[in-house]
Amino acid sequence: MKRYIMTFDQGTTSSRCILYDRSGTPISVGQRELPQIYPQPGWVEHDPEVIWQTQMEAAREAMTKAGATADDVAAIGITNQRETTVVWDRTSGKPICHAIVWQCRRTADLCEAMRRSGIDVNIRSKTGLVADAYFSLTKVRWILDHVEGAAELARAGRLAFGTVDSWLIWKLTGGKRHVTDVTNASRTMMFNIHTRTWDDDILNQFNISRSLLPEVLPSNGFFGETTLFGSPIPIYGVAGDQQASLFGQTCYGVGDVKNTYGTGCFLLMNTGSKAVSSRSGLITTVGWQLDDEVTYALEGSVFIAGAAIQWLRDGIGILANSAESETMARSVSDTGGVYFVPAFTGLGAPYWDPDARGLLCGLTRGTERAHIVRAALEAMAYQTDDVLKIMTADSGIPVTTVRVDGGASANGFLCQFQSDLSSVAVERPQNIETTSLGAAYLAGLGCGLYESREEIASLRTCDAVFRPSMPLLTRAALREGWQAAVRRARG
Ligand code: ADP
Repeated sequence: MKRYIMTFDQGTTSSRCILYDRSGTPISVGQRELPQIYPQPGWVEHDPEVIWQTQMEAAREAMTKAGATADDVAAIGITNQRETTVVWDRTSGKPICHAIVWQCRRTADLCEAMRRSGIDVNIRSKTGLVADAYFSLTKVRWILDHVEGAAELARAGRLAFGTVDSWLIWKLTGGKRHVTDVTNASRTMMFNIHTRTWDDDILNQFNISRSLLPEVLPSNGFFGETTLFGSPIPIYGVAGDQQASLFGQTCYGVGDVKNTYGTGCFLLMNTGSKAVSSRSGLITTVGWQLDDEVTYALEGSVFIAGAAIQWLRDGIGILANSAESETMARSVSDTGGVYFVPAFTGLGAPYWDPDARGLLCGLTRGTERAHIVRAALEAMAYQTDDVLKIMTADSGIPVTTVRVDGGASANGFLCQFQSDLSSVAVERPQNIETTSLGAAYLAGLGCGLYESREEIASLRTCDAVFRPSMPLLTRAALREGWQAAVRRARG
């Protein structure tokens, strides 16, 4: 009996595999850390062979723990760190260099040049992306320019480019399939999200041959099959991590929003069949494609969220652990006028100020540890609130509910404060592993285990719902205080 869906969750710091049963309940987990390579300040790489090995080890561990064989697995679903760029030789099957990770800043100058020359405007309207080193386009160009022999191999048609999903599928299928899904393609900056095809103008501008690129499939498409676990297992559902989380949170209605509170925050809003372009620097992206039907999303992020709690813990040592932040925040009735703007690496949407720096303000002789900790938690909510406001303005869709996940969503104080501040219901699912769950749902749809999104939505179980109860005037005063603090942190 094909009881399980196997999901590969290939993230920036770890490779994980979770086996799910039909109801979306996790049965077993395998996990391996992924070593980070920092060749120079600001540069980040992964070894693609290690990505592959750790992912396979995680898969074998999950299978062993569940006592499962390939015959038990209906399909494999894949979700992955986005934008990270792998280039390999089709003949030898070997990568020609390390993967350039999404965080790597080595192509920041090229992006600056794109902005200066103004070509970013047209690229943005086609791809939905702002000129930034995150996206794969400039990383591919860098590899072709700097890796010995790359340009010749490309001319000979021997090179293959892929995001991590593509690379894993190539390996899983023994080099038979060079494919990706539409959500991952939409992060490469080479893909026109409106026509859903590779964009020849951009490829010509950057002198990248189309022969490098994978075939693009719907997120629930058939990506190939693997015999590496015994009898053949089909690969069916693929999506980049944030899109998979939107799908796993069952945000299937227009205006549905999810927020992941991790190191930073990632907010995505389902905008339906319409690709909404942002006036405030949000990204327009493909949420998913099921067969021929595309769902678009608006995406905004907060650079420093849980990382501020981490800093209080590891940096200045006023917290023993992250979870303690909740009891400490609740031990005081407010922050006593303290605001914490964690602009450690500048501020993103809607401020876009790379020169802003962190600020603690409103300190008095009466300020205690608890006030500062509470201010750090509230800062996650203020920054999220700022992004929600521009999402609403850009899309014209008011947000009534935010579905949350990520490590810091365990914090009930944070969830309640978010609900109060943004005047929205905050829903926390029982399974906050929504990324791998999303991949499992997509794979389940692909292989026919599920009939429809409605069936999947009925599987969703909420752990808690937080509802707003803060008086209007209190909310307005808090927001005003935050804005004043942000002004001081800038410039
Ligand atoms: P990522 O996947 O981005 O590495 P996680 O989703 O695992 O992050 O979340 C970890 C982050 O959440 C850390 O920065 C940590 O400080 C923060 N965090 C974890 N638990 C809590 C909590 N109970 N309250 C507040 N922050 C928390």
